[in-house]
Parts: sequence; structure tokens; C-alpha cells
Amino acid sequence: MEIFKDSKQAQIDPEAVVSGLDAVKQVIAVASGKGGVGKSTVSTNLAVALAAEGAKVGLLDADIYGPSQPGMLGAQRTQLHIVNERLQPISKYDVKFVSMGSLIADDGPVVWRAPMATKMIMQFLNLVNWGELDYLIIDLPPGTGDVQLTLAQQASLTGAIIVTTPQNVALGVAKKGLRMFQQVNVPILGIVENMSGFTCSHCGEVTQIFLGGGGKELAEETELPYLGAIPLDPSIVESGESGHPLTSGKAESVGAKAFIALAAALKERLKEQAKSEPLEPSSYGLNDKGDLEISWSDGVAGRFTAYDLRVNCPCAACIDEDSGRRVLDVKKVPLDIKINRHDKVGRYALVFEFSDHHDTGIYRYDRLREMAAAQKEKQAQSGPESFEV
Ligand code: ADP
Repeated sequence: MEIFKDSKQAQIDPEAVVSGLDAVKQVIAVASGKGGVGKSTVSTNLAVALAAEGAKVGLLDADIYGPSQPGMLGAQRTQLHIVNERLQPISKYDVKFVSMGSLIADDGPVVWRAPMATKMIMQFLNLVNWGELDYLIIDLPPGTGDVQLTLAQQASLTGAIIVTTPQNVALGVAKKGLRMFQQVNVPILGIVENMSGFTCSHCGEVTQIFLGGGGKELAEETELPYLGAIPLDPSIVESGESGHPLTSGKAESVGAKAFIALAAALKERLKEQAKSEPLEPSSYGLNDKGDLEISWSDGVAGRFTAYDLRVNCPCAACIDEDSGRRVLDVKKVPLDIKINRHDKVGRYALVFEFSDHHDTGIYRYDRLREMAAAQKEKQAQSGPESFEV
């Protein structure tokens, strides 16, 4: 694939005027502990299955180590265009997609160090005219390194799907992947077991080549949703090689049906997740006194002075990690301390830079909600004008 700075030839989608993720409803990462388990196959077929049902879908192939979407979508020779300094996604099978493969020489080794790779992927997310999307599927690189962690933190993910094969080795590494997302508060939407059982195209008998069921067991063990199994199916390989995703045509094969069922299970899961406790605030910002005002859609709300936040800093320099006790000497915190800056950390926290230059505390939303609840209780006891925490 090539990138052209020539807007005249570009097939510009008139709807794709919103760049970045501003008009993207759900950002879903597809991840795996290791390569070769079918993460890209699942991403592609899931995206095409969702689009076939009428959803607006984007697909970002962020697998810098083995970008395979151009091949799987039959778009190897499609040109990428830059319009108004924004990349136009390519449309294939009603899916708008962009691949990191377009920035890598065909047979060149990928030797980017993690910070560079992460920067490139974040740019790809933010500098593409994605337009309005119901779902943006991100095919992550395999593993649980810095690239995946930073993306999980910065890409405001709705959640992650973990793809695994049934063998124990794969399940072990899938568990690592799960933990990584959980640590940064990215909800796990579910586990998919790929290459599950081999279905004979003649008699329909299922043979468990890799001892099936491991994905379901992992879901049970970790109390996470199980989204389904995709059979080991030669037509999946064939469709990947030929650039015609299985879910794009007449979806009659066992494999295609499994992907369609996966798309349905994912939609169901997203609905359930939307009903659960809202962790992300519905609004937050500094008021004219410089205090943080934060509220959630279920009515929980708090107002914290810079001092409140500074003395409650959860970073390792302020709290002893083993005992959980505060080691910060609060007498040293100036009473007139101010918040110079505040930023989001993924979908799970805020970070502040205070006027004493301290900026290492990550204030998780669950912790801020606890602080808001404690504050409300204190107010009830001592009158409405006290906001100490
Ligand atoms: P990953 O993205 O995890 O590295 P890929 O999606 O590129 O894995 O899949 C690796 C290989 O396995 C590809 O050749 C693909 O066609 C094949 N494959 C993936 N899923 C299946 C399946 N369910 N049945 C048969 N072959 C599969």
C-alpha cells in the first residue's frame, strides 16, 4: 500500500469529515497473548460481520509486527490518501480500514522501539478521518508489552476482546493479557476461543484437535464473559489468503456462522456493560476557584480543592506501597496550592500537575468516587460548606 498526498484522486467519503475518535461510539481492542492465534482473522471477520448488519465500522490494523489486514481484505494495492493532513481510510466490504502495514516496507523487519511504535499507532488513531462510527475495531500487536499497555491507557478503549486457542500454553499467555487490561481498568468484553474444533465439511463431525474448551474454562476461572468459539476451518485460511472475508459473502459456512454469532454476543455484552456502574465521569473540570468539579451520570458528584487532591495523592512517593500508609508530609503542602493542568488517563483516571510541580499521582475514577462519597457523608454531618476529604 502507498500513501498519496493527492486529494484529487482520493475517493473521499463525505461522512468522514470528523477526524480522530471524536465520533466513534465504541473502541474495541482485539488482543492476544501471542501471535498466530487468529487475532487478525477474528478482527477482520468481526468487523465485516458487524458492517453487514448495517453498523458503521472501522478497523485499525495496529499489528506492526505482522500487519495482515490489507491481505485479508484484498486491499494490498490500494492507495492511502492524505486529505487536509488527515489520512482517508480505505473502504472495503463496508469497513473503513487503515493498516500500519502501509508504513512498513514490504519485507522490511520491524525494528521500532516501543515509544516510537506507540506514537505511530496513536497518530494513526487520531489522524485518520474515521468519521462517525458505531465500532472501531483495533487489531493490536500480540503480547503484553509497552505498546499494548500504552495503547490500553491512551486509546480510551470501550473494552478488549481476548483471542486464544484452546491449548494450555496459549491460555497461560492469554491470562497475562487479561491482567494487563484489568490493571488499567479496560473492561474485558470477553474471551474468544479460536481454532476450537475441526468441523468436517463432509459429515459435520467435530474433532477437538487442540483439546477444546480451554477458552470457556479460562472465562469461568477469571469470571469473564465467554463470547464463543470459532472452529478450525480451512475456508477461514482460504478467505484470508484470497482477501474475501468469510463473513462478506453468503455466510453459510460453519466458520462464517461462528463469526456472526460472535458479533451478536459482542453486541449483547456491550449492552450489558453500558448498564453497569458508570466509572467514567459524565463531566469534570476546574471551576473558577480552581477546584475540580466532577460528576457521574448516576448522580455521584464531588468538588475537590487542589489541596484535597494533593494531600490524597496516591503515587508511590506519597503512599507507602506495602503498608498503604501516607508518607507525604502534609505540612509541606502549601495551603494555596493550585492545579496547573489536568489530563485523562485512558478511561480510568485523571492525572494532575500541581503548582508544587508534583505530577505523578494517577487518580483512578473509582478512588475519586470513594472520595466523593466520603465528602458527601462529611457534609451531611457538618453542614454543606465543608469540602474537606
Ligand atoms: P494473529 O493475528 O493472531 O497473528 P492470524 O489471524 O494472522 O493470527 O492467523 C494466523 C493464521 O491462522 C492465518 O493463516 C489464518 O488464516 C489462520 N487461522 C486463523 N483462524 C483460523 C481458524 N479458525 N481456522 C483455520 N485457520 C485459521
